[in-house]
Amino acid sequence: MGRTEKIAVLAVQGAFVEQEQRMRELGAECVELRQRSDLGQDFAGLILPGGESTVQGKLLVELGLLEPLRDRIRNGLPVLGTCAGLILLSEEIVNEDYVWLGTLPVKVRRNAYGRQLGSFCVKEELKGIGTVPMTFIRAPYVESVEDTVEILARVEDRIVAVRYENQLGLAFHPELDMDNRIHQMFLDMCRQSVCI
Ligand code: GLN
Repeated sequence: MGRTEKIAVLAVQGAFVEQEQRMRELGAECVELRQRSDLGQDFAGLILPGGESTVQGKLLVELGLLEPLRDRIRNGLPVLGTCAGLILLSEEIVNEDYVWLGTLPVKVRRNAYGRQLGSFCVKEELKGIGTVPMTFIRAPYVESVEDTVEILARVEDRIVAVRYENQLGLAFHPELDMDNRIHQMFLDMCRQSVCI
């Protein structure tokens, strides 16, 4: 405690500004990742924001960020992936034939709620925290997980939040609600991993 954690936020597309605001409210500093040289900065965690996973994934490849980020996540860098970020992390996207980082042993379905349910908000239980607001925007859900993955939340039987070791994956957007408890949980993961 007492130390200011630096958290890297992928800032190539999507809702990264809101993620930075939430982290700053909790006393963390943010480092924006826009190009490969940004990886030279020191950071204790990584946030992959919502947005458009295909655009973000292609930019990760073009900017030479995909492989180094994959290596760091595999080596234990705490990562929070929300919505498109969850898709980037997933080992399989059942309705696409590509994979991006592929570090999280889950299968996700992109744009899983169809057009009519494009966006919606609910309040549901998230393990270890309690009832939290959940805002879904053209969201994926998790179809299945490996046994080693902890399921943190379901909405109407669909898995919408998971944790696997240093990786936290959410189908919804906690940064859009005025409730910082999920970001606090992630910041705690970052602090603990720095202490080890
Ligand atoms: N539909 C987007 C995708 O497939 C994700 C939407 C979001 O991040 N809110 O990448």
